[in-house]
Amino acid sequence: MTRLSILISDILKGQNTLHYLRHFESFRDAPREKIEAYQLERLKELLAHCEQNVPFYRKRFRECGFSAGDFSSVEQMKQIPPLTRQDLQESWQDIIADNYRGKKLYTGSSGGSTGQPVSYRKDRDATSAGQAAHLLGWSLSGWKMSMKGLHIWGNPATVNEEWGRLSSKLKARIFRHHKFPAYRLHDSDRLNELYQIIKKERYDYLDGYTNAIFHFAEYLKAGGLTFDHKIRYVLTTAENLHDFQRKTIEETIAPVYDTYGCSEINSIAYECARCRRYHIIDPHVCVEFGEPLDSLGTSPLMITDLDNFAFPLVRYMNGDLGIPGVADRGECGLNFSVMAAVSGRETDLIKLKDGGVLSVPSFFGSMLLRKVNGLIQYQVEKVSEDMLNINLVTGERFTPDDLKIIESALDEYIRGRIGYEIRFVDAIDVSGSGKFKLVVDRSGQ
Ligand SMILES: [Zn+2]
Repeated sequence: MTRLSILISDILKGQNTLHYLRHFESFRDAPREKIEAYQLERLKELLAHCEQNVPFYRKRFRECGFSAGDFSSVEQMKQIPPLTRQDLQESWQDIIADNYRGKKLYTGSSGGSTGQPVSYRKDRDATSAGQAAHLLGWSLSGWKMSMKGLHIWGNPATVNEEWGRLSSKLKARIFRHHKFPAYRLHDSDRLNELYQIIKKERYDYLDGYTNAIFHFAEYLKAGGLTFDHKIRYVLTTAENLHDFQRKTIEETIAPVYDTYGCSEINSIAYECARCRRYHIIDPHVCVEFGEPLDSLGTSPLMITDLDNFAFPLVRYMNGDLGIPGVADRGECGLNFSVMAAVSGRETDLIKLKDGGVLSVPSFFGSMLLRKVNGLIQYQVEKVSEDMLNINLVTGERFTPDDLKIIESALDEYIRGRIGYEIRFVDAIDVSGSGKFKLVVDRSGQ
């Protein structure tokens, strides 16, 4: 039934997801050497294609002295400068491969929250491979296609334009994957509607925008609302999952498994239900970590999509940060590479006068949050070169002892580097895009 559903969806959408899924699944039990050998072969193919057919890379390779013909180890990738969002903004026309021009390509754009929107292209294979990697990634949380899920997602444009299409409706039915628009979750009537739907339909899992699900979890918590059936898990995506959010969602709904991708390159890493680490989908992407920015190893990510030959993204620095993990065979038995954490975006960093940086997700990490009760949400606001406001939203369970724990943790991490003031606020201001920002920089204003 599973395979047939994907096949039907492929026919409806003119894709070949099933082919890629079978291919990726063949690496599930594979030894590490086999995975690395495949990745290297695929990189060779991609880089040779870039050199031959993609004007942007032809020029770039020439400038940095890289020759695809000499490529024989992933280490040599370091010779190629990372592809930045600025490169995409300025040179996207030259990133379309010559032998794909005139073919039917999907055009996408992304990046409202980074402040640097970019446009990209994908052909049928890039899209299908992205979806296949996604299905494989989801299975790491225990997902099976027979499960019934609710997808909390979408801005008004997606909901109005895409969800109404016949292919989208059929796909929802085939995959037993229903949808609820995230952007409507701003008042208690809508939140209650969502609660009632989940109770009635008895969904096995929820997935969708991290902040929308967190907001819903807060609503459940405040009202003491529970479900009378077991929800197996919650999959979060598209926005960074902060520890305080995970905690609230797990208290009110189910265990959370985070997933990581971006719209330019789908389906990059998935949190595994068995070893609780993020597995990188190695047959689909090659992930490199840049120079560490702090003592925890927080590093900029550079991602190469192994399946987009129409618009190759080689060492793409999308602005996200991660902490590398140790690639040993975990209890899950999977030999894919490991990320210890997806630890925010470059916009979650605070630059200091001395040239250093503070990574906010690191100093409000899970250790601190485990010790503190009643902390609902926080945001760090840089108000000047010398001063941070730490804005806290707290609940009834918050005590003076909790405040002391936070102060001592902050003192240890921040003192002497920048001043700070803790402020208790009723709510965190979600300005502009409507997305929550962990760090707000007002020092330049
Ligand atoms: Zn695992």
